[in-house]
Amino acid sequence: MKVKKGDNVIVLSGKDKKKSGKVLQAMPGVDRVVVEGVNMRKRHMRPRKQGEKGQIIDVEAPMHISNVMVICASCKKPTRIGKKINKESKNRICKKCDTTL
Ligand SMILES: [Zn+2]
Repeated sequence: MKVKKGDNVIVLSGKDKKKSGKVLQAMPGVDRVVVEGVNMRKRHMRPRKQGEKGQIIDVEAPMHISNVMVICASCKKPTRIGKKINKESKNRICKKCDTTL
């Protein structure tokens, strides 16, 4: 998976189209990411203790990585990510400006 936790991404489709945010969680097994402030869902919390009220909180729902694009920290543009493999390491590079991400 090319998107990692901490990346800035822009949303390509859905109700949050064109919003951007930071990846809070990457879920490589299911190709999904949780993006800060994007794809908010209401979650109804039951009261846990007696006398406590149930509440509705907004949480970010995971979205498929095909719906987001990584924003390059260097050229600030949404970009595809390439891979450069050295002897020592595998680097992710911006396909637009060749900067290592
Ligand atoms: Zn770039």
